[in-house]
Amino acid sequence: MSKISDSFNAVKNTIPENVTLVVISKTKPEGDILEVYNCGHRIFGESKVQELTPKAEKLPDDIQWHLVGHLQRNKVKFVAPFISMIHSVDSLRLLKEINKEAKKSKRIIDCLLQMHIAEEDTKFGLDRSELIELLESPQFKEFQNVRICGLMGMATFTNNTNQVKREFKGLKLLFHEIKDNYFKENEAFKEISMGMSDDYPIGIDEGSTMVRIGSAIFGERHY
Ligand SMILES: *Cc1c(COP(=O)(O)O)cnc(C)c1O
Repeated sequence: MSKISDSFNAVKNTIPENVTLVVISKTKPEGDILEVYNCGHRIFGESKVQELTPKAEKLPDDIQWHLVGHLQRNKVKFVAPFISMIHSVDSLRLLKEINKEAKKSKRIIDCLLQMHIAEEDTKFGLDRSELIELLESPQFKEFQNVRICGLMGMATFTNNTNQVKREFKGLKLLFHEIKDNYFKENEAFKEISMGMSDDYPIGIDEGSTMVRIGSAIFGERHY
């Protein structure tokens, strides 16, 4: 029988040192998370606030929690005091709320802007023109309590690896364009969060700096 720690180490060994592994623990119990924690790993991600907050309370304090799922504005206040990075910022209104709650917590919260790169229209995210509109809005320039660290994207769920590759390439190109035009002198803007269990090797080939991996480590999720 394969143990979680074995799968974790097997996955970990395929990831270059300069790529950050975010272990996605949604639907998985605290015991499973501790098994990975006890291998020395500290960066975990969840997709729902209502699942994240009770886990964060019970699990060790030195875990860096990332939020990767769609975030509603009325839930920002529950994660603002402790969240390490939010990958799923997809509107100016949401960013404004994160900025407000970060300020209340006397924090600066690291954020990624989620881009819509998949063909499916079920996935959240900004398109290129919405991204530019956000970055050029006068309001955006006033936010003191959020730090934009890069872009996140989810490829189409398909066996067509060429399509996935194309979508990831597009995200990388966009990242460099945005970096040059808006964040040239800004060292914080450096992350491209792309790649999940089924497509992370392609993500890494295409220049991902962060991969978000759940089921390849914990096994399938049962909802
Ligand atoms: C669930 C989820 C993941 C991890 O998915 P796996 O296929 O289990 O690796 C990554 N990113 C986001 C945004 C997710 O919701």
